Order: sequence, then C-alpha cells, then structure tokens
Amino acid sequence: MQTITKIAELQEKLNSWHKKGESIALVPTMGYLHEGHQSLIRKAYEQNDHVVVSVFVNPTQFAPEEDLEKYPRDLRHDQLKAETAGANILFTPSVTELYPMNFNSYVKVGDVTEVLEGLTRPIHFQGVTTIVTKLLHIVQPQMIYFGQKDAQQLVVIKKMVRELNFSVKVIGCPIIREEDGLAKSSRNIYLSPSERQAAVSLSQSLKLAKAALINGQRTSHKLIKIIVQRLEAEPLAEIDYVKVVDTQTLKAIDRIDQTALILLAVKIGKTRLIDNLLYQK
Ligand code: AMP
Repeated sequence: MQTITKIAELQEKLNSWHKKGESIALVPTMGYLHEGHQSLIRKAYEQNDHVVVSVFVNPTQFAPEEDLEKYPRDLRHDQLKAETAGANILFTPSVTELYPMNFNSYVKVGDVTEVLEGLTRPIHFQGVTTIVTKLLHIVQPQMIYFGQKDAQQLVVIKKMVRELNFSVKVIGCPIIREEDGLAKSSRNIYLSPSERQAAVSLSQSLKLAKAALINGQRTSHKLIKIIVQRLEAEPLAEIDYVKVVDTQTLKAIDRIDQTALILLAVKIGKTRLIDNLLYQK
C-alpha cells in the first residue's frame, strides 16, 4: 500500500489504472480507522481492482464549537488498518491541499440535509457533500463506499449522486458493532469508562424497538416511546432526537409498513453519539 498526500501524485498513479480500464473504489474516511471502516475497505476490495482510502478530517463539516481540533488522528495506525483490509492507496492530503487559499465553492443538497443531524449541525452536510464531490472528481472511482452507521449521510450522498448525475455507484455497508452492541465509532474514545457503559443504551433501545416491530408494533410514536424509556433510564444519556422516518425523504412517518429508518442522537456526557435501525420487511 502506498501513502500519498498530493492530488497530482495520486492522479498520476490512478491514470495508469484508468487507462487499463481497471476498476477503482473510493472509501472516504476521517481516519482513526476501526473495524467499521475496515468492513467498507474489505467490501471495496472484493468488488474492485483497486481501493483508494482517503483519510481527511474535513474542517468544512465541523462547526466552530465542535471537535475538529481534538478529533483523533494516528497515521501509522491508519496505514496498518487500511493495508490489512485491502487498500492499495491511502490518500492523506493536508487541509491546504484540498482547500487552498480563498476556497469558496460548496455543494449543497436541500431538504434531506435540513432535518435530523442538520438541525443540530446546520453546516455539516454542506461540508460532507463538498468534500465527497472533490474526492469523486479527484479519484473518479466506479464505486464509493459508505456505512449505514451514518444513515442520513448515505441518503444525502445517494441523492446528490442521483440529482447531480455523478457516474459512480454508491454502496451502503451494514453497521459494525462492539460485542455489547455499541456502534463502532472513532469518537467512542472520548467516552470515560462510566460513559462507555452508558453508551450501550443506544443500541439496546433500538434492539427493544426491533423486538416490538417483529412482534407487530408498527406505530411510530409507540416505538419511539419504547426507545425513549430505555434511554431515559440511563442517567448519563441526554436525548437529542429519536425519529422514525421514510428511508428516502427522511420525513417522519406515523406508521411503518414496508421500510423505515429509526434514528437517534444522544449525548453521553459531552460526546454526541448516533445510531439507527434500518427496518426492511
Ligand atoms: P468516518 O471516518 O467516521 O467519517 O466514517 C467513514 C465511513 O465509515 C463512513 O461512511 C461511515 O458511515 C463508516 N463507518 C463508521 N463507523 C462505522 C461502523 N461502525 N460500521 C459501518 N460503517 C462505519
């Protein structure tokens, strides 16, 4: 695996693959790679000739009060994790490489970015769609991989790709969890031991909702009540939102018939965690 920091060097390398008609996959990440990221890289490796993993803590998706500065970074760790999962190139550009002086061009997707995460993090998705667009133009992959962990992000990217006619296939991959159910996340390292214990309430609440769904409970407010009750039993948990929404429009639905997304965001101490359940009949 080769680690590359410059766009020009990356494109030179990719050109030879493009010319030979070999397929290239892109897995965008913010680094501090774990098994969640690795599952995306493995899938990309299975389905393509070459895999580019980008590691870039993207400043435009963080609000000033968020954790941009303290977000965990460890290049050696990422090189090892990416290589063992099957990456051919680790692209680790600097901020100025991707955002030169006077950068002022953004990609904005409407409606689906203005709900859920968008309410608490109003500039977040514009940063995400802008960086993903830049990476797509730089790498020109046939396939791009995202985790269901960030369910709204996946919906936003799919909509952007569809509506702006990007010629890339977007692949969503299932959530990888710790043994006790906590969704793996680079931000989990912020949790103190007691917070780490409390954080299991997120996946446990979704598990209860799933059991109720399987038993025939289809009314959104009743499912939300089950989730909220479990979360409220956890003194360290502070609910931001619990929503049952349509899987494409992200609009709230009253009843679940065929498919639905149940999404939640919860603060455990100072750390904001998200999790979700994709229900497909
Ligand atoms: P991040 O580095 O947090 O920006 O995540 C990079 C990609 O990895 C995104 O598409 C995430 O949805 C995905 N991802 C992060 N955590 C997980 C997980 N636990 N399971 C599956 N995918 C994940």
